[in-house]
Amino acid sequence: MSHETQRDILDVDVVCVGAGIASLSTAHQFLKRAAAEPESEPPTVLILEKGLYPGAHILSGAVVDSEPLKRLLSEDEFNALPFYDSVRSEKFAYLTPRHALNLPLTPPPMKALGLPIASLSDLTRHLAELCEAHGAEVYSEMPVASLLEKEGRIIGVRLGDKGVDKEGHPKSNFEPGADVHAHMVILGEGAQGVLTSQLIEQQGLDAGTNEQAYAIGLKEVFEIPAAPERVGHIMHTFGYPLPQDMYGGGFLYCLDATHVAVGLVIALDYRRPEINPHELFRAYKAHPRINAFLTAGKPVSYGAKILPEGGLYALPRLITEGAMIVGDAAGLLDAVRLKGAHLAVESGLAAGNALYACLENNDWSCTQAAAYPEALQKSPGWKKMRQYRNARQWFDWGLLPGMAAIGAAFFTAGILPPGLKAKAQDHPVQPAGKKKPVALPTLERHVEKSHRLDILSDLYLSGTEHEEDQPCHLIINNPEICRDCIELYQAPCTRFCPAQVYELPEGTERITIQPANCLHCKTCQIKCAMQNIEWKLPEGGGGPRYKNM
Ligand code: SF4
Repeated sequence: MSHETQRDILDVDVVCVGAGIASLSTAHQFLKRAAAEPESEPPTVLILEKGLYPGAHILSGAVVDSEPLKRLLSEDEFNALPFYDSVRSEKFAYLTPRHALNLPLTPPPMKALGLPIASLSDLTRHLAELCEAHGAEVYSEMPVASLLEKEGRIIGVRLGDKGVDKEGHPKSNFEPGADVHAHMVILGEGAQGVLTSQLIEQQGLDAGTNEQAYAIGLKEVFEIPAAPERVGHIMHTFGYPLPQDMYGGGFLYCLDATHVAVGLVIALDYRRPEINPHELFRAYKAHPRINAFLTAGKPVSYGAKILPEGGLYALPRLITEGAMIVGDAAGLLDAVRLKGAHLAVESGLAAGNALYACLENNDWSCTQAAAYPEALQKSPGWKKMRQYRNARQWFDWGLLPGMAAIGAAFFTAGILPPGLKAKAQDHPVQPAGKKKPVALPTLERHVEKSHRLDILSDLYLSGTEHEEDQPCHLIINNPEICRDCIELYQAPCTRFCPAQVYELPEGTERITIQPANCLHCKTCQIKCAMQNIEWKLPEGGGGPRYKNM
């Protein structure tokens, strides 16, 4: 659009980009603190969500480390959270292709007995309602196109334009995105957030840290014939179907009498171009130990999302003049337990308190906002990240060195392994055929027909939709580079995408894109071997419509 486009301007105290757990916790804590001073004018807080509703783009396991939520919410609010049952029994198992070996004890960092099981998409929606009750304004279908900057300070955000056609021309329903001016912008966009990544790069906020590393998580919820005796049982697994040189694991949570969540998390630093995460997920569900929980059931939801798992040494600076980065957007995730919700809440608590100090002192400078990282660094979640800061990196050498590093960190309270350990980058892959191909699913015959959903049938269960007549939000920067990739790696994007967005029609050398299928997981931007794919924000409301995920 031209520079002359007239835009509405809105002034607020705080604007949150993304209505995820971290943003909502920030807003909740800030408004709660401000409400304790009833004689002051209540602050204005705007929360902007690109999905159709808060939680539409959020999924996770999830067994929630709920202690930070208890500090965030009142007792009544906490008791009303939409949790399933708590964990009543847990197993930690190593899977071979046909068998499961239960470890006699669950490793201490993985213990989850008594913690509540939740759907993070449902929890997010509930927290958004609580924030509204505390005075925040929450708007869905509102992607944020850019940060507004003045004299080196972030002064607000510009919303994305609506009603632009495939060629970039305004349609009859065109609406220019408004400018929102704020004292502080909270970046809670989730992993690989578009604005957060730009800000980190432009301001060098990640100088001196490891590059962030990611994993992709694929998840389905199954509806099963009633099995009340299994409610609250959870299982974490490692081994099959991942080969020894890949990091990740699976989970299975019995949510209630008739629903089971099953998922597989795969680190994106794998090197073999033939890896297909969706096929591995199918193999996982086909394993006899997992399949025993799914027999006679049918999947009712599907989704995929990335997790930042680089740990403490991959965190950027969390504040700059006019902005704070919270939750997954910053990379706050316990990479050993693959848990981030508690750190999202911890960051929200710390950021909300810092915002209140800014408001009270009418000082929104970086010096005042520094209370956020200072408080976060004292939180139990951060201390755990610090204890295991060097553990994930050792899995670059395989399962045993990685397990040994976790053990060392546990028994020495984080003194070992010492130093700042570097982490291999995610995107390089080996030329196709360099290693013996991974043996993929061998257990199909064990699977009920309904479990063998191909990727497009699975996709249907995600509810993903996009307006067709809009600019493509997936950009292949240089199609010529794809030819080299096809020759060297046989186009890994046609396999790593969990929504079959990229296809290579037979006999051609041109990748085709189905942007309407996109689950917004951002794997393509990270894992393209040639770093040739750019993920841009599509029009608001597009993407998955997760519920109970
Ligand atoms: Fe994920 Fe990219 Fe596929 Fe969309 S196109 S689902 S962001 S890998």
